[in-house]
Amino acid sequence: MSQSMNVTLVGAGPGDPELLTLKALRAIEQAEVVVYDSLVSPDILALIPAGVKRIEMGKRCGKASARQEDICAVLVRLARTGKRVVRLKGGDPFIFGRGGEEALYLRQHGIPFSVVPGITAALGCAASGLIPLTHRGLSRAVTLVTGHLQQGGEFRGWSALAQAGQTLVFYMGLEQAAEIQPRLLAEGCPARLPVALIESGTTTAQQITTTELGRLTATAATLKPSGPVLMIIGEVVALRAELTATLDSLAVA
Ligand code: SAH
Repeated sequence: MSQSMNVTLVGAGPGDPELLTLKALRAIEQAEVVVYDSLVSPDILALIPAGVKRIEMGKRCGKASARQEDICAVLVRLARTGKRVVRLKGGDPFIFGRGGEEALYLRQHGIPFSVVPGITAALGCAASGLIPLTHRGLSRAVTLVTGHLQQGGEFRGWSALAQAGQTLVFYMGLEQAAEIQPRLLAEGCPARLPVALIESGTTTAQQITTTELGRLTATAATLKPSGPVLMIIGEVVALRAELTATLDSLAVA
């Protein structure tokens, strides 16, 4: 039986279907219509029951994408048909996913909604790349940052981002490498600060490239990604080599 008017904003996690929460899986299985964004992996879309209407609506930089107002309007229109609507988003709905805007719009239009958290790219990519985002003695804070820092006026936080002892995770940062590198260097970050670029993290297509801040722009220019890329900057990135080496030597022993 259909409930009257309701939308569930569901975080689909970073790509691996096994990283969905039980709650997300249940919402997908019970949906009557699913509106998904371009980040949601094909393996997760495959969990939508046959016969359930799916609508792709997302924003993806560099590609033709729906306007946010149109996405919001579609959610309201579908909710008013009385169907159980799932708005499925990559990662977590409230981390750089415009879930907050959608929730506000639904609220303003009197549509009840709920939110199911998802594993955001920073956490998924770091774990599957063997990069502890915090580590005693190396990093006591993690900052999640959008690469689109200049939107909405001049960004004044570069010196805070350059403070030692933290890890920076840039979403949508690959195209902004040529901006990020000189800004952080100018604020005193060392050129040898380790950086990881993780493409399609947690999926079978995952690719990890490590470099250092002084070579970030050059390294970024060599990538031809076919999936989303996350950038992790900080001393903790060096632990990846150590953790991988430990695993290798254990396998031999
Ligand atoms: N709501 C999402 C983020 C959306 S913004 C979340 O919480 O994860 C889109 C950006 O997320 C991409 O440009 C990329 O930087 C990052 N991203 C999302 N999934 C990713 C993945 N599987 N691997 C690498 N980066 C990813």
